[in-house]
Amino acid sequence: MDSEGALQLLRRAGLEITDAPDRGGHEEVSADQYLGGPTDTWALGAARTEQRFLRNQQLQLRGSFCSLCGHSFPEQLLVAAHIKPRSACSEKERMDTRNVSMLACLFGCDALFELGYVVVGESGVIEAGKPGAGQVKDRIEGLVGRKCLAHDEPSRGYFAWHRQAHFGKLIRQSPTTP
Ligand SMILES: [Zn+2]
Repeated sequence: MDSEGALQLLRRAGLEITDAPDRGGHEEVSADQYLGGPTDTWALGAARTEQRFLRNQQLQLRGSFCSLCGHSFPEQLLVAAHIKPRSACSEKERMDTRNVSMLACLFGCDALFELGYVVVGESGVIEAGKPGAGQVKDRIEGLVGRKCLAHDEPSRGYFAWHRQAHFGKLIRQSPTTP
């Protein structure tokens, strides 16, 4: 196939696949896809595509285990959680898909990590982050002391970023601060 033919094929695929990858602009989206609503369906599609890619990659790398609680779950109950949020990543870090994300289960681990209720220490052991009460406290205590399955040398820096991001806030809110 010549390059023009390949280009046409790509263009056609881009138009037919609603969740095309993020190319940093909306110029290829026709106006009728935005009618009447603020929802950016195009960006949503790109996010879903990335989520599918990250999850599949992590499943192949580490199997269908939650990196935090360590339990095995059906794939649909695991999500690819960004250790360092996409918005805070450099372009190079965003491309480091193997190490910047991990699998976390939908039974609380994903949210507890994202919200900073748990963090992962320098040695890869889960530590308590911001305090929670009741059920949240119980869940946190169930994770503290476990080894995070996704912590290794290449991902260490991302966990450090997450710890710093949440502990930084906690330290500033500490009652010992005058
Ligand atoms: Zn879990």
